[in-house]
Amino acid sequence: MFDKLLVANRGEIAIRIMAACEELDIGTVAIYSDADRESEHVAYADEAYRVGPPQASESYLDQERIIEVSKEAQADAIHPGYGFLAENAEFAEQVEATDGIKWIGPSSDAMQQLGSKTSARETMQAADVPIVPGTTTSVDNPDEVVSIAEEYGYPITIKAAGGGGGRGMQIVQDEYEIEDALETAKREGEAYFDDAEVYVEKYLSDPKHIEVQILADESGNVLHLGERDCSLQRRHQKVIEEAPSPTLSQSLRKKIGNAAKRGMHKAGYTNAGTVEFLVEDGKFYFMEVNTRIQVEHTVTEEITGIDIVKWQIRIAAGETLPYDQSDITFNGHAIQYRVNAEDPASEFAPTPGKLETYRPPSTIGVRIDHAVFEGQEVSGDYDSMIGKLIVESSSRTECINRSKRALRHFDIDGIQTTLPFHQYILNDNTFRDGAHTTKYVDQLLKEDSFKKAIENRSDASVVKPESDEPSMETVSVEVDGELFDVQVEGLSSNNTRASQSTSENPIANKADEGGIQADMEGTVISVDVEEGEHIDQGETVCVLEAMKMENEITANHGGIVSEINVSEGDSVNMGEQLVQMR
Ligand code: ADP
Repeated sequence: MFDKLLVANRGEIAIRIMAACEELDIGTVAIYSDADRESEHVAYADEAYRVGPPQASESYLDQERIIEVSKEAQADAIHPGYGFLAENAEFAEQVEATDGIKWIGPSSDAMQQLGSKTSARETMQAADVPIVPGTTTSVDNPDEVVSIAEEYGYPITIKAAGGGGGRGMQIVQDEYEIEDALETAKREGEAYFDDAEVYVEKYLSDPKHIEVQILADESGNVLHLGERDCSLQRRHQKVIEEAPSPTLSQSLRKKIGNAAKRGMHKAGYTNAGTVEFLVEDGKFYFMEVNTRIQVEHTVTEEITGIDIVKWQIRIAAGETLPYDQSDITFNGHAIQYRVNAEDPASEFAPTPGKLETYRPPSTIGVRIDHAVFEGQEVSGDYDSMIGKLIVESSSRTECINRSKRALRHFDIDGIQTTLPFHQYILNDNTFRDGAHTTKYVDQLLKEDSFKKAIENRSDASVVKPESDEPSMETVSVEVDGELFDVQVEGLSSNNTRASQSTSENPIANKADEGGIQADMEGTVISVDVEEGEHIDQGETVCVLEAMKMENEITANHGGIVSEINVSEGDSVNMGEQLVQMR
């Protein structure tokens, strides 16, 4: 077994991995950027090393620096977590080539083969696994796309071979959109995944996202740990995941599990991995493989009792799996809720800011995987997930009831989060019936009633700024040994949390005071107007990236742009003037 493991990651997954190390009696090394000096994962580790400034490209993505630190710390293993370098085959190869340091994950060859969506599709097809109809090789010109679209019928999607998380994916409804969509998909593939290769597949109209967890050791044993249903998504990104799927029939479950194993066996895959499928009209289609631990591995752990992260480490150390497929049994039901710094009432726009209150729930059936604390500043440099609430129970119905209780006792103030959304969805009949597909949340977002319900819940959870009205506050008073709640006037006049509601409307569209300001900190991705240009209300002025999300900043009234204060690549603070108008 290893002596000391370096976690090339941050946040909750870094702590999750270190927890596994602790139980295996392995020493832990954290790395951190300047934005994370005070972070929980740093405090949790036995040792911690600075790797660079806040920008991920110069810290958590700096391959050479991370290997250098591993040597300096005398670590004999590197675990990449998810995100950052986790699916970077080149980095895995570098680690493999470094004496005395083991990569916790599949071989760089397997990562290469399955990391590209086109070669993964080829591999799966060769293993007799049905794939989403479309090409297995790259496409380059619009005419090719037109003929493929004619063969399969619209809509189709043009996808970056290296893509993921809904990025580098363009949906095309008819022929006229093809040229632009092809260009955009290539550009996004190049920008985000350093790979401009794209391919085409049929865009399924209303599928479920079902994925299968695989564990494979280096002696050729490939096991599946059942499926997860990750159909509840916004903008093609998962928000709630559960195991088992509430709608899969036993026969389909068996077929999908076996198909996943067959495909991974064919690829010579080792370690933990996930095979993702889309399921529609009782048929399943392979979508992609994630060659790493996933955010939602937790729900599988809850119902199988198997510690997946520990097995990742053991497999990398050469241990064989002590189970047969028949030893893997499933108990009860588990649901994971992503707690994101996002405002569900504003189309899930990011809400970096200070966690004035942070009190997670506890007791039976509740697991919290997180790395934040009360008073912490949630930075805009990294993704928006601040933690995960995982609830487990004997049945789905009981799990939903338990989840309601847990969410009721999850207190967060200071920033808007996805918690009100989760509370809403637990009372939604489509979700309760398990009938939701990957399109469901995007449909909900268009409904006024949804927005109102979310706004009401959000208002209740965020302290309002001071107003002229005397504020009423509830305090507990003991009278003759009995506690009473009483309303008291004016107690909160010195409320230091008053300014936190600035995060309520995170889309920067203030056009007053002659200009447009940023309502969040972020990086300018593009400036979409020119000096002297007349712009209309609602027009996009620039695009800001915060928490790995792109946010269009629109003008809330028309006018002429008299001055542009920012340019592409600039970091802006909240309240900073982006453009001047007259
Ligand atoms: P990931 O986010 O898992 O890396 P993708 O970016 O390929 O994977 O896909 C993300 C989501 O986009 C899927 O879960 C699904 O909701 C949707 N999606 C992808 N491909 C298709 C398709 N061909 N038809 C319909 N929906 C799709």
